[in-house]
Amino acid sequence: MKTSVRSVLMIWTALLAASIVPAAATDSGRLKLSKVVIDPGHGGHDSGCVSQDRKTYEKSLTLDISQRLAGKIREAYPDVKVILTRNEDKYVTLSGRADIANNAGADLFISIHINAQDKGTSANGYSIHCLGQSAQKGNDLFGKNLELCKRENSVILLEDDYKTKYQGFDPSDPQSYIFFSLMQNAHLEHSLIFAEDVADAMKGGPITRSRGVSQDPFWVLWRTTMPSVLVEVGFISNPADLKVMRSPEGRDRIAGNLLKAFSAFKGRYDGSTGIDPAENGGEAVKDTPAEAAAEPESVSTAGFGVQVLATSRKMKAGDPFFRGNPVKEVKSGSLYKYVLRPMSDEAEARRFYKEISKEYPGCFIVRIDGETLERIR
Ligand SMILES: [Zn+2]
Repeated sequence: MKTSVRSVLMIWTALLAASIVPAAATDSGRLKLSKVVIDPGHGGHDSGCVSQDRKTYEKSLTLDISQRLAGKIREAYPDVKVILTRNEDKYVTLSGRADIANNAGADLFISIHINAQDKGTSANGYSIHCLGQSAQKGNDLFGKNLELCKRENSVILLEDDYKTKYQGFDPSDPQSYIFFSLMQNAHLEHSLIFAEDVADAMKGGPITRSRGVSQDPFWVLWRTTMPSVLVEVGFISNPADLKVMRSPEGRDRIAGNLLKAFSAFKGRYDGSTGIDPAENGGEAVKDTPAEAAAEPESVSTAGFGVQVLATSRKMKAGDPFFRGNPVKEVKSGSLYKYVLRPMSDEAEARRFYKEISKEYPGCFIVRIDGETLERIR
């Protein structure tokens, strides 16, 4: 797991790209959240965490909450296609889960898990995770969540051929995680916004302690090429959390909270051309009314390019990630967005997008207006 990792990552990226379906966009180029993939953690011979009395498994709780959430979304939004990565007690690999979401061309990926404390029962509460390496001090890769990531990622060890399939990635080796800083896609911004929606919606209970939103190196979040969030709903090792999660009412309320978050996110996502938290003081963004959707009067001052990355870590223009392309950096809230090959011709930008979309899964075309980026495809 040393120098070959970067090239290995490129190979993975290329393999992954072969099966990518573009995210949903309406004819007008406006976004529409029309497909969501819900991922109940673990399953089959992978039980996940187990309660101290050995009676309750993470895999059963995640499936039940996911199925309830799926039902609620289908009821509230009959037009939205809801896909579960598993709908029964069966084992699905981490890469298999990501493949389901990528092949479906999903607009949002929600992975549901339950946390546990190795020793003791005091730790409690829910936490929400996006991919990456947080720039926030004390909340970084080797901070509080590394043990959690190691445990959730370690399910790949259950696969017979994991050494070949995951190309030497060792979930227990901190060195392996350094490379996750390169594994951020263009959708981090949406992921963080949805994560905040989940945090807001979970506030009212039934599990009341929030452990916050953070960026962490979860394998399954890296492999998905759309806004993706992993929710650790509560602690199976904490008696109060467990009591809530064991009751059907408790699980139903949690699913209801996740529906609330989904609704908030969809409300902003639909009809927009991208979400820019910087314009709203880092807060969630208002929906763009349809009548405001007209083309700008003149695009002569604007340019076009392909956004390949949004990250909380500032990158160097010469970083190998950009593969020698000219790159424009735009600071947006706490994120840096990177656009390859800014150019004045839209048709040329579209050609360039086609050329590189396999190398940069999930990338999209943006209109550049000064320091503002507007997604147009
Ligand atoms: Zn889990």
